[in-house]
Amino acid sequence: MQRLALRWRRAGVRVGLVPTMGYLHAGHLRLVRRARRSVGAAGRVVVSIYVNPTQFGPTEDFSRYPRDLARDARLCRLEGVDVIFAPDDRQMYPRGDGQGFSTFVVEQDLARAMEGKSRPTHFRGVTTVVAKLFNIVQPDVAVFGAKDWQQATIVQRMARELNFPLKIIVAPTLREPDGLAMSSRNKYLTGDLRRQALVLWLSIQEVRGELRRSRKPVLAARLKERLKRMIEREPAARLDYVEFFEPSTLAPVKQVRQGTHMALAVFIGPTRLIDNAAL
Ligand code: AMP
Repeated sequence: MQRLALRWRRAGVRVGLVPTMGYLHAGHLRLVRRARRSVGAAGRVVVSIYVNPTQFGPTEDFSRYPRDLARDARLCRLEGVDVIFAPDDRQMYPRGDGQGFSTFVVEQDLARAMEGKSRPTHFRGVTTVVAKLFNIVQPDVAVFGAKDWQQATIVQRMARELNFPLKIIVAPTLREPDGLAMSSRNKYLTGDLRRQALVLWLSIQEVRGELRRSRKPVLAARLKERLKRMIEREPAARLDYVEFFEPSTLAPVKQVRQGTHMALAVFIGPTRLIDNAAL
């Protein structure tokens, strides 16, 4: 992949990268389209498909994360993707599991809150694998989804601070018709869990409604209490966190107003789902 990328670079071909963990859905494909729009018909779009072990905690779903490379390849072909880069664990890490690998990229500020608090080694795995992908694929642009807002913000910070010569594009979250954010993990939502999962989107709508009604800033602490009660009325739902913050710095706010960003993580049964939106 890197040899090919260097050849493209020498020939002046523009390259767009869409990093994914596979089991592609329409949200991923929208990022592919965004990458194509950015590099043009003469450019190359690379989709990386890699379930990165170093970003999963020991009790998380690494081994059962859904995988279907044949299906992903079909979807990429239909979308006009030029190259799928799907390395195996031994190509990315000497022993395959991240053990015996000693160079990590760590963002130490934005990565502390929210997802970083609940999943302490998660972002270290993300920034490390994304830095590796940037070095391997040498893209001019890389496209990330707003669905993982904190991740996109951290990757932007990393690229700026480590001088990666590329542009990061953040594309909007694609949702199911009822509002549930598309995610490979939605596959876990069998039976009534799929209905209960809508509580993430309903929480966002609840806060938007409250801001509209009150027409002035609302205390974050009050909203958090209310949302916890609302979410945990669903029998299988347990709130992990809900946070209100400035969208670009992720700095938490006490007063929630229009333009404040909201993010939450909720367990629906064993499945942990996240969502976020501008209010
Ligand atoms: P994943 O395969 O879940 O690691 O996601 C790969 C990329 O797709 C990340 O940049 C995600 O933010 C993005 N993504 C995932 N779901 C969505 C969605 N529903 N809408 C837009 N982008 C998404």
